[in-house]
This record gives sequence, C-alpha cells and structure tokens, in this order.
Amino acid sequence: MPNHPDIMDKLVSLAKRRGFIFQSSEIYGGTGSVWDYGPLGIELKRNLQERWWQEMVRSRENVEGLDSAILMHPRVWEASGHVSGFVDPMVDCKNCKKRFRADDPKIKGTPGTPDGQCPACGMKGTLGAPRQFNLMFKTFMGPVEDSASIIYLRPETAQGTYVNFLNVQQATRQKVPFGIAQIGKAFRNEITPGNFIFRTREFEQMEMQFFVEPGTDMEWFEYWKAERMRWHRSLGLMENRLQFHQHGEDELAHYARAAFDVQFDFGGSLGFQEIEGIHNRGDFDLSQHQKFSSKKLEYFDQGTNKRFTPFVVETAAGPNRILLAVLVNGYREESVAGEDEGRVVLGLQPALAPIKAGVFPLVKKDGMPEMAKKIAQDLRPSFPVFYDDSGAIGRRYRRQDEIGTPFCITVDGESAAANTVTVRERDTLQQERVSTDSLREYLLKRLTA
Ligand code: ATP
Repeated sequence: MPNHPDIMDKLVSLAKRRGFIFQSSEIYGGTGSVWDYGPLGIELKRNLQERWWQEMVRSRENVEGLDSAILMHPRVWEASGHVSGFVDPMVDCKNCKKRFRADDPKIKGTPGTPDGQCPACGMKGTLGAPRQFNLMFKTFMGPVEDSASIIYLRPETAQGTYVNFLNVQQATRQKVPFGIAQIGKAFRNEITPGNFIFRTREFEQMEMQFFVEPGTDMEWFEYWKAERMRWHRSLGLMENRLQFHQHGEDELAHYARAAFDVQFDFGGSLGFQEIEGIHNRGDFDLSQHQKFSSKKLEYFDQGTNKRFTPFVVETAAGPNRILLAVLVNGYREESVAGEDEGRVVLGLQPALAPIKAGVFPLVKKDGMPEMAKKIAQDLRPSFPVFYDDSGAIGRRYRRQDEIGTPFCITVDGESAAANTVTVRERDTLQQERVSTDSLREYLLKRLTA
C-alpha cells in the first residue's frame, strides 16, 4: 500500500485550469513530455530557484555563481563520458513501433526472444533485443550538416562548470575549498518520460560543484548531504515524505566515490523518487578535461606549496521535480465547518506561493471596489497580489485557496470609516482586522515567517 494517495491526475488538471503548467504546443496535439509554465507556474518556479540561489550562492562566501552556455564544444561530451556512456538500453516493438527501456518492469519475458511480450500492444515475440540509446539531443552548428558540425544540447549543467573551474577561481581569487553554482536548462532524450513534469525531455537543473582537497572529500560530502536535506525541509516538504537513498555498488558511476539521493514520496505507485543527487565525483571530471583539452586544470595552494587536481562534491537538483514535490506535498481537500462544499487547498509556504494576497471588495458598491483596487495597487510593488470582485466572496476565497494564496484581504462596510480591512489566513481561516496603513508591514512580516 502506498503511504500517500496518487493525486497526479488532479494536479495535472488543477495546474492547467489555474495556469501553473500547460502541455507544450497543446493546440498541435502536444510535444512529448515537454511542458510550459503559465503565470502561476513561473512565479512558483522562480521562487524556488531564487530560494536556492540565495541559499547556495548569495549567503555563502565560498560559493560563486555561473551561467554557462547550453551549446558546448563537442569534445566536452567525449571527455565527460556522455558520448560513449550516457546511454540507456532500449527495446523496440516491431508491431506497434513503441519504445521501452529494457529494464521496464511492464515487459514480460525476455526481449529479443519469442517469449518477450510488448507492454503496449501485447504481442509476443515482437520486441527486439536491447540496444544502447544515447540520451543526448544532437544537432548541427552552422550551415553545414556533416559529422564535423555535430553539436549536443547539454544533458547537465555541471560540465560548463568544470571547464570554467580555473576562470572562476582566478577571477574571484577563491581558495579551495570553494564551489561554483548554476541554474540552467538541460535536455535528455528520455526513453520513458512521464509522470507529468517528473521526467521530461527539457528541464532545468540547479547544480553546485564544490572543489576540495583530496582526502577532505568525504567530510565535505557529509556536510553537503546534511545541508541539502535541511534545505528541502525548509521548503515545508513533510518529514515523512523525505528520505535519503544511498547508491549501492551497482548504481554508482565507475568514478563515483559515494552518492546519495534525496528522495520525496510522490504518492501512489510512483512513491519515493529522487529529487536531488549528492555525489562525490573524485577528480574524474577535471582529470578528463585536462586529458582531452591538454590544458592544466590544477590548483596551486600557496599556503602549502602543493599543486593538485581538486576532488568534486556535487549537489544536483531539479527545480521542475522539486516544484512537483511542492505541489504534491501541499495539495489537500478538506471539508469546512458549516459549509456544504469542501475546499481544495494548496498549502504552499507563504514565501513560495505565486500570489501572496487576494484583495476583494465585499460587494461591488459603496466605494468598496475603489478602496480595494487602491490597496491592491499599493501592495503590488512589494509582492504579487490579485484583485477579484467577481462572484460570491466565499467563491473568491476558494479560488485563492486552490492556488495557495496565503492571505485574502477584504474591504467591507466598516473599512472606509475605520480605515481597516479583514485579513483571512488560508490555513486557519481566521480573520483579523488590520489597519490599512500598516497592512504592507503586517503582510511582509507574515510572508517571511
Ligand atoms: P534519474 O535517475 O531520475 O533519471 P538522474 O540521477 O539522472 O535522474 P541527475 O543527473 O543526478 O539525475 O540530475 C539531477 C536532478 O535533475 C535530478 O535529481 C532531478 O531532480 C533532475 N532531473 C534529471 N533528469 C530529469 C528529467 N528528465 N526531467 C526532470 N528533471 C530531471
């Protein structure tokens, strides 16, 4: 029995209806496993990314930021091992032409033999033997489409960091140990994408490479493991939905000295899945790039007069997957005392919520809309607010609950004379009367609490 129910279908529909996430090129029937972020989705994604950047870069004196290009020299991917090793074994069905990962648990029998059964069309003996499929997207640079102009869309941001290791170190005069962090797009031609935005072909990564002296790497690895789990908890992800998964010998990359995933329980049959990986990569990456580029990527420690190739501890997270975790974690349906209709609530942390406050006139007369519009306008430079005067007040509250808005401000019959409004809190449903003059400070305080 799964620990938590499967709410993915409900989320997909809510996300579309309310403008969090749309299928890419939907009017043409959609692009396979690529998604667009709507007005609310982009706010939520930005809030997550800014939270990460603040935590990993701005608040640390030993981590620098970087934004390297998606297109890189093709030799980078030979050095990194992606050209030869970034492959998944794949099988094709000769009958229905569908493709599967060879380790897909839905496949019965052995692919490539008469008893191998296609999980899509059900035919036996139509699955070919597994063959290696490279997950990198390939295209051509410049006007000539020949093998000399092949270029890849990066499948991870990390390599852009490794090749810039000395540029950043020399420009900033950082001393090892120090880190380089970046947020950017990555592309993988996944064979079996799916589960909404969990596994897509275009996604983003928030990766940090921490360069350390060999011998100190396991200490740093433990440090970053703890730091990253702390960060996920700080987003409000429930304690019982988070766990570490240690990579066993069979899962570890050949060069990796240790690897742990932070896993989140997405509910239903998906269950616990990786949202971030913490890896001790040794000196594999810098050594490979030294070998393939013939350029030194060593560090000279002036204190000890030692020259060495640093080891790397990597923290690799995906904002799209974390965004999905935040939605799953926050979604709840509940009944409201004294009301027939229940409500759907996205219990997002106020700091992450796309809209911070709804502003409503109780009724559309007696100067209430004008006063409410003025309040919304005054608050807008400080944080995103949404003015709404259509429909019953209860409806308007529900609409904000469903998108995670933590506060709703209502201008009512007393407001004009007393210069006050009511502020309703999403989770407790409690209302407080607040002076209009101190409203901004009141909300700012509660938004960061
Ligand atoms: P998986 O085993 O799920 O394919 P991975 O171990 O290959 O992931 P990494 O290369 O460590 O993933 O990437 C770091 C993070 O990037 C992952 O923890 C995840 O959050 C995100 N990520 C990786 N692949 C995808 C994808 N196809 N779609 C969305 N996010 C992804």
